[in-house]
Amino acid sequence: MDYSKLYRQAAAAYSLLPQLLTPGRALPPLQIYVEVTYHCNLRCRFCQFLNPSPAGAESAAADRPRPRPEITNAEWRRILAQAPRSALVSFSGGEPFARPGFIELAETTARRNKVHIYTNATRIDPDTAARLIALGPRGMFGSGLVLIDVSLEGLPATHDRIVGREGAFQRTTAAVKRLVSERSRRHRRYPLIELKVVITRDNLLELTDLFGVAEALGADLFNVMVLNTIPHAGRSAASGGAAAADPLRPPPAVVEVDPDLLDRELKRLERAATGSPTRIRTTPQGFSMEEIVRYYRGDLPANRYRCHFPWYAFGITAFGDGVICPYALLGPIDPAAPWALVNSGKARAFRNLLRQHQLLPGCLGCCMMVPKP
Ligand code: SF4
Ligand code: SF4
Repeated sequence: MDYSKLYRQAAAAYSLLPQLLTPGRALPPLQIYVEVTYHCNLRCRFCQFLNPSPAGAESAAADRPRPRPEITNAEWRRILAQAPRSALVSFSGGEPFARPGFIELAETTARRNKVHIYTNATRIDPDTAARLIALGPRGMFGSGLVLIDVSLEGLPATHDRIVGREGAFQRTTAAVKRLVSERSRRHRRYPLIELKVVITRDNLLELTDLFGVAEALGADLFNVMVLNTIPHAGRSAASGGAAAADPLRPPPAVVEVDPDLLDRELKRLERAATGSPTRIRTTPQGFSMEEIVRYYRGDLPANRYRCHFPWYAFGITAFGDGVICPYALLGPIDPAAPWALVNSGKARAFRNLLRQHQLLPGCLGCCMMVPKP
């Protein structure tokens, strides 16, 4: 069964109700995105949140102006204790495991909610792997850790070059191996393990071999993602919550790869994946390979897509700001009433603008755009 498709349909249905009855307003969040820190031990060249330091400093935030400190673990615990029980909590960063105390925060959250973690996995040692697998729910309907999303950007030399750290490929794949073997030792189905790659000119010719790596490691899913050029200025470590970019302006063109070559490589990948237990997924969610090629060609027809994200999801930045879209930063949340901003004036105005357009010029390439039915 395709759970991600089911989830997309449920999220769309959940969003349509308030769109029809109370324009601009949203129900309590079905998904909560927690950007738990903007620190990271890697330096990916396309990172949305960090600006690589030429000196290669351990924390990007340390070599950038930091107008505001990140919120504390105690504040995160307080906020997440108020999450609706039905909400999926997705932790990302930066790198979540670069934050001291993150594993404990994940454990506490997984007792009440379904949890999903985006990570580069380089800090998942044997003890952490065992603790993560222990959080897997017994079935689809319980609380617990349902998905670990691991970035793998190419074969060893390419991956290490893209992420700016020698030895990173080896550390990431060793961690995935640990997770898969611990899960099988415990006879668990969850958490599912997904490897994801952002398509760039550097890894284009390696996609099929990289799928082979995912398959050999025992990953459940292999996600090919388009390179997203949407400005995230309002959430970056450098800005500390400055105003977001203009959603009515298209993001910069993607001139990364030759679309004909991409078409050939994606077909090769699809052939290699036929019959494999490792399934291919795409980002934006549910895109066909043809749509990915059209995106890189620059001729994706925007009027065939829409976005429900601001109606079903709510994000919190590492600085404690509410966010419902890269273009809609809502300001500081109150840890005593974290969802109060869901229907703030700014949030309602943004949803009304989006409702009018269905997809804004600035949305092209965003992970959250979905095809219209
Ligand atoms: S691993 Fe993620 S957070 Fe870290 S530099 Fe790469 S893209 Fe940015
Ligand atoms: S698709 Fe557009 S409106 Fe939706 S979250 Fe992305 S940038 Fe925001």
